[in-house]
Amino acid sequence: VRGGSALDAAEAAGRALEDEPLLNAGTGAYLQADGVARLDASLMADDGRAGAVAQVPLLPHPVSLARYLLEQDAHVMLAGPESLALAARLGHAVGVVATPAKIAYWQEHLDEACRRLDYAAMADAWKAENPRLGTVGCVALDESGRLAAGTSTGGTGQCYPGRVGDTPVIGAGTYCTPRVGVSMTGVGERILVKLAAKRLADLAGDGVPLDEAARRVLDEVGPGAGLVALGSGGEVVERRNTPFMAAARCTA
Ligand code: ASP
Repeated sequence: VRGGSALDAAEAAGRALEDEPLLNAGTGAYLQADGVARLDASLMADDGRAGAVAQVPLLPHPVSLARYLLEQDAHVMLAGPESLALAARLGHAVGVVATPAKIAYWQEHLDEACRRLDYAAMADAWKAENPRLGTVGCVALDESGRLAAGTSTGGTGQCYPGRVGDTPVIGAGTYCTPRVGVSMTGVGERILVKLAAKRLADLAGDGVPLDEAARRVLDEVGPGAGLVALGSGGEVVERRNTPFMAAARCTA
């Protein structure tokens, strides 16, 4: 995306990461308890435009459907099979999202509670155990100083069908202002109730240095989360209180 916009970069990075079977987004997504991968993704530009999709089955690049919604600048979020139908009409590639490794993982973890879709029993297990992470995110800054942020996930894996975490919720998993772009990962329920990405952007907007703002937000969210943030001056912050986050930087 040399010479392209921050939005082009965030979408391109999202697509590349969604193609990586080791990660938990697009192609590599974990399956929900009923054996179906339902994808969540969001993308936001620094001018306030945003697009998000939640619980879309059969879509290897949900970040590109989020980009389409952002560009249309009408609805912000679409959910479920109807969004898949839109993606198909737009000519986006559709297909089964389930790698052999993720199917094997699902089979190994298919306990009685999952088999019966017993929500209460699944909820107890969920609270006792570490969730499966591996969400992907990208923040980008272009030559003209514009920022964009995007996040994509298969969710927490083996979860109750239809569960939505923070990733597709603008302000929770993704946020972008002219000052900072933010992408979050980790236990989605806690990130969601804190609206963590917006919280970081608000702190930065009040003049709190990005590193300090990131530290405060992760303290508030609690263990098992991480974030990448990029400021309009090119300041990069990667912070985590989870072992499940790798990050890379690239200048084009
Ligand atoms: N935040 C994602 C979710 O809860 C999971 C992750 O970051 O790996 O859906």
